[in-house]
Amino acid sequence: MAKKKVIFSFPPTLIEEPVTYKLVKSYDLQVNILRARVVPREKGRMVVELKGTPENLEKAFDYLETQGVQIDTMIQEMRHHTDRCVHCTACTAACPTGALSVDQETREVSFDASLCIICEACIPVCSYEAIESLF
Ligand code: SF4
Ligand code: SF4
Repeated sequence: MAKKKVIFSFPPTLIEEPVTYKLVKSYDLQVNILRARVVPREKGRMVVELKGTPENLEKAFDYLETQGVQIDTMIQEMRHHTDRCVHCTACTAACPTGALSVDQETREVSFDASLCIICEACIPVCSYEAIESLF
């Protein structure tokens, strides 16, 4: 089993289509929708965690691309502006996944994009505008 966390961007024409159902039925994937922003007649965006065999994941991505779905990794979606961060650690308590964590020796806060689910819980607790979401 392989696991991938990605962002799907849907064109307005696909908003009504049962795309995630097709991923489960046709490609035997486990689909965990972590976040979705869908507005009728506008581009939709969804953060999903997918589990399945590497072959099926590849086939599913091929299918999605032929349908006009853009697939992006999460790396660029959240930014930790280290130049503004004062390492107060407030965000680490708000972060449910450990994507923001504090080094117990140096007391420095760091961000691991691979653990982030773009829940944005960290943004309101940061008084220094050191975390930004592009989702
Ligand atoms: S809350 Fe803001 S300033 Fe404090 S550690 Fe987190 S990112 Fe840095
Ligand atoms: S968006 Fe959510 S998961 Fe990502 S760093 Fe902020 S609190 Fe953690």
